[in-house]
This record gives sequence, C-alpha cells and structure tokens, in this order.
Amino acid sequence: MGTDRPRVFLFDIDGTLLHGGGLSVESYCSAFTHIFGEPYSIRAVDCSGRTDPWIVRAVLRHYGLTEFAEDGSILEEIFRHFLTAMRAMVDAGYQAEVLPGVREALDFLGSTPGVTRALLTGNLKEGARLKLQAAELLQYFGEESFALGAFGSDHHERERLAAIALDRLRHALGDSLQARDVWIVGDSIHDISCARAAGFRVLAVASGSTPRAELADKNPDILIDALDVGIFRRILHM
Ligand SMILES: [Mg+2]
Repeated sequence: MGTDRPRVFLFDIDGTLLHGGGLSVESYCSAFTHIFGEPYSIRAVDCSGRTDPWIVRAVLRHYGLTEFAEDGSILEEIFRHFLTAMRAMVDAGYQAEVLPGVREALDFLGSTPGVTRALLTGNLKEGARLKLQAAELLQYFGEESFALGAFGSDHHERERLAAIALDRLRHALGDSLQARDVWIVGDSIHDISCARAAGFRVLAVASGSTPRAELADKNPDILIDALDVGIFRRILHM
C-alpha cells in the first residue's frame, strides 16, 4: 500500500514512543547538582508536552533562581551537563520502555511508500537521540529524519515548533506538501495545540501522563489508548 500524496507523521517521544523512566529526571538532577550544588528535580513542574528549555526555566523559577531562568549561558551549561549525564546513563546500559504497538507502527510506516517519519518533540535534539537509543528505537529515525521535524533545541515554546517543522518538511518534500497531510502523534494537550498552530492534524494517544478525558477536551482528530498499525492504515485512507 502506498499513498496518493506525501504524508508525514511527526512523533512526540516521551509518553508516545517510550517511557524514559528516570532518564531525564536523574540527568537534570546531576546537572543541577554540578552547577548549583543542589539536586533540583524537574518533577517539581508539570513537564508533559513541554520543551526542555521551558522545563529548565520553570524549574529554576520554582526554586527561586529566577535570575538564571533567562540567562542563556547558564541554560547552555545546564544542557551540556544534562546531556553528558544522560549519555553516561545510556552508555552504561540504561533501558527506556518502548510503549505497546510502537515498533509495529514504525515498521509499517517505514515500509509504506510516500510516508515520512520524523520527530516533533520538546527534547533537545541530542537528548531525543539518546532516549531513542535507550529504547532501541534509533534505527527508525535516521539522520535524514533528524534533519526534518523540530526539537526543544529549536525553540522553548512547543507551539512554535510546528512552523519550524513545516518549513523543513517543505524544503525536503516540496512546497506542495499540505499542512493537513502532516500528523502529529503525541500524548499531551500541548501536542494538540502545537499541531493546531500549523494546521497539522493530530493523533492523540492516551499512553502518557495526561488522562484520556483531558485529551478529548482538546478535540484531537483521533484519540486512541495505544498505537497500532490499524490506526495508521485508517489515516492513510483519509
Ligand atoms: Mg509526550
């Protein structure tokens, strides 16, 4: 089966493709300890659907370090330590949990002509790579897919990532690519608002921390409990 026109699926990572467990929490804890001498926790803020730069700023404000929240050089230093800590955990064999149906869906999309798989995630680009590596999902997202899509390292507001991704996709696939043929696949209300910001459609999956009813309130095009091949077959016929 192929498609009559190009279709793009932009996947969120956390809560959609995998559960990272303590990977981010522990890596940030290590970075904050290194820089501030305190093991600040990103669990102090609601991280779901947010970008890494948004999360770090919110955490700094939460702990009363407001003056650092807009300090680009401090943020860069935090990210550098964060990525180093995460790389060490992944290299030591840390395993992230792949969510049900994910491999089958990614295999199916990868074998369907005319379909592009890429990422739209709040993770920093390098953090995204490490999380996918920890879940043994990196083989589904090659260098070419990392050049498409958008990451938390592109902008701190998730809604802004959609326009960035659309620019990259049209550059790669042609200006005739319709925004409505781009689907965001994500588990938070911010994936939904991000999709709406660029006219993308959205497949919401209630496999993360956001309750199904809360996702339903935001009127995603499709809402499911877990990814499977069938839902992608259905979308390709739409
Ligand atoms: Mg998510």
